[in-house]
Amino acid sequence: WAKADGKARWMLFAHERSAADAERYRLSAAMPAALRHGEFTLAYQPLVDLRDGHIAGVEALARWHHPRLGVLGAGQFIELAEHTGLIVPLGRRLLEQACRQASAWQQDGYGLYVNVNIAVRQLHQTGLVASVAQILDRTGLAPYRLQLEVTEHAVIELTDQIRATLAALVELGVRIVIDDFGTGYANLANLRALPLRGLKLDASFARPAPRIGKPPPPAVRRPDDAAFLATVVALGHTLGLTVTAEGIETASQARRMRAAGCDTGQGWYFGRPVPPGDITRRVAGQRR
Ligand code: C2E
Ligand code: MG
Ligand code: MG
Ligand code: MG
Repeated sequence: WAKADGKARWMLFAHERSAADAERYRLSAAMPAALRHGEFTLAYQPLVDLRDGHIAGVEALARWHHPRLGVLGAGQFIELAEHTGLIVPLGRRLLEQACRQASAWQQDGYGLYVNVNIAVRQLHQTGLVASVAQILDRTGLAPYRLQLEVTEHAVIELTDQIRATLAALVELGVRIVIDDFGTGYANLANLRALPLRGLKLDASFARPAPRIGKPPPPAVRRPDDAAFLATVVALGHTLGLTVTAEGIETASQARRMRAAGCDTGQGWYFGRPVPPGDITRRVAGQRR
């Protein structure tokens, strides 16, 4: 009966999986209309200066106000949009929205920068530089207030085209930061060669290293977490980059990341992604 049970469970699993596939398919198919109907918005998460705790910037994170499913996080649909290619028009729309918001903050005298995520697919697209230039022009946002976050994966196989695109963006005055640093296969030579502004250490750096397997015999040295972290941060600083710690959920994590030398912190401890008005209230409060 164990076998029968196993088979039943497998069938249930297969069924659930196809149900999930069907849901993904429905989401993908619904996206173009959702884009036309303005169902995509941005939430903004504080980027906090770890020296004094003030909000120096924000990261714009995509949200989908789905009529049936409620608010979906980026993790639930961005990959699908990359798959179908919809990320190109969606990304352009979100970039414009973020720059418009940051420009409004700029006009109110808040010196916030805005980080916007750029998918690899967008980097491959030839019109990216022109559309960034056009959006900056239309919104009046100072170029240095825009930081584009590209994942490590985008610069692993650094093609001439991507290299040229990044150089042209920097030429516009826009800043480039590497997102989720330390999770892919960071090509250190590329890191040195690119005109980057900063690194964002993946959230896993904010947590103690998971220990794999049984405790090792005494002769095996375990790396010291704090020293390891400080070395990674020093690598960033040696390259002239600012270092941001992502995924900070507790005060002790914030202390650890600051002690390691990180410049900026981001995470639920400092604030969740929220509508722009909530950010305005917080920065208005810190100015007084
Ligand atoms: P990311 O750029 O690394 O963004 C950080 C993710 O971690 C966000 O998830 C954020 O809500 C979440 N997060 C922030 N602080 C904490 C924390 O303290 N604890 C935990 N557990 N999570 C935290 P989100 O919004 O679901 O976005 C997921 C990913 O989707 C982003 O990862 C980014 O790669 C991508 N993404 C988001 N918005 C856009 C966009 O407009 N365009 C593109 N191309 N990608 C986007
Ligand atoms: Mg990001
Ligand atoms: Mg990240
Ligand atoms: Mg991420």
